[in-house]
Amino acid sequence: MRSKAVVGNWKLNGSLAANEVLLGALLREIPREGPVACAVCVPGPYLAQARSVLEGSGVAWGAQDVSRFDKGAYTGEVSGTMLADFGCRYAIVGHSERRTIFGEGDQAVAEKFAAARRARVTPIFCVGETLEEREQSRTESVLARQLDALLEHCGVVELDGAIVAYEPVWAIGTGRTAKPAEAQEVHALIRGRIAEKDATIAASLRVVYGGSVKAANAAELFAMPDVDGGLIGGASLKADEFAGICAAADL
Ligand code: PEP
Repeated sequence: MRSKAVVGNWKLNGSLAANEVLLGALLREIPREGPVACAVCVPGPYLAQARSVLEGSGVAWGAQDVSRFDKGAYTGEVSGTMLADFGCRYAIVGHSERRTIFGEGDQAVAEKFAAARRARVTPIFCVGETLEEREQSRTESVLARQLDALLEHCGVVELDGAIVAYEPVWAIGTGRTAKPAEAQEVHALIRGRIAEKDATIAASLRVVYGGSVKAANAAELFAMPDVDGGLIGGASLKADEFAGICAAADL
């Protein structure tokens, strides 16, 4: 049995004052112990604050990106060991906003995944197709390309214990959620592709769904057999919504 994971992605949002309120509410609303792995991925400058509020709670914290380099002359980068220094459990890699707005390609994303692994930070590896790709029936080939780049660079063993997030680009921040059956179909494809390399790793791998998940639609998505939780953008900025989504993962 795979346990579920619900991870918030705050994106470029927050302030010391607002975070204090949001994190404090999460502390109150999310149980300290339970079967669901809950976490928030906050902007880098707020990692220390997240650690100081969340340490010892039922909510872990992480980053939204990681450098593919470990150290050196790479202005603006933040390494995996730096994230580990701040107690990060997770780092998102290959979010579609990084792929499209910041031009990150499959190879760079695979290198970031490897860098997180080297630092013992769990990568959350995002894949997903655009609306145009879906309409052209290219969902499977796009996902295969994204996954294969990772598998070729890192090897399937590196996926053991990592998280894959299926985030259809057309569902991110749009209010348009994939139907549970649509999500299930793609999650099964992802797991199947990895099972071709290693069935045991594929069976234990958490594949979470991201794209306009709310407390009101989380339970039906998480009830799908291959949906192992969620990566949550907008709704992670509201404590009651996020806590509701975490609770829906424990039904
Ligand atoms: C995301 O950015 O990873 C995401 C899923 O966003 P939203 O939940 O707002 O669609």
